[in-house]
Amino acid sequence: MALAVTHVILTIVILDLFRHYVFKKSKFPRYWLVIGGIAGLFPDIDIPLGWVYNFLTGSAITIHGMFTHSIVFPALFLAAGLIFRYKKNSKWAGICFVISAGWFMHLILDCAFGGYKEFIWPFFIYNFCPQWGIHQYAIHIDAVILVLWLIHEEVHKRIKDYI
Ligand SMILES: [Zn+2]
Repeated sequence: MALAVTHVILTIVILDLFRHYVFKKSKFPRYWLVIGGIAGLFPDIDIPLGWVYNFLTGSAITIHGMFTHSIVFPALFLAAGLIFRYKKNSKWAGICFVISAGWFMHLILDCAFGGYKEFIWPFFIYNFCPQWGIHQYAIHIDAVILVLWLIHEEVHKRIKDYI
């Protein structure tokens, strides 16, 4: 599974590229990037929840990479976004869409980094993700993503957007 920083940075980078090249900035407020970035990390809430569960029950069961890593949750936020869009509520539609996108990117990244079994829980439990061992380069991947993003922002004179 990917590192926390990869989840947040890559999600924000991809959403930011959509913000710049697909949508107009006025239709994609900057705070949606923050929401998307948090959503990109949120499925790993099962790590501290697992600590609490283990503390309260005295068990050593690992729940990380299970239920919160199911594609069911981004699908629910996508559905909620479509309902808000149908009701002409573009603000909440956009928020639901960026949460769905961030959550989905988390699942894709974890899958790319070695995977887990609960991708389509509760319908199917099987790890079909590639086992190519890139998780051992997780720290380097973090650094490369951050540097490429900084270069992109500087080349396009957008660093000031974040100050
Ligand atoms: Zn995860």
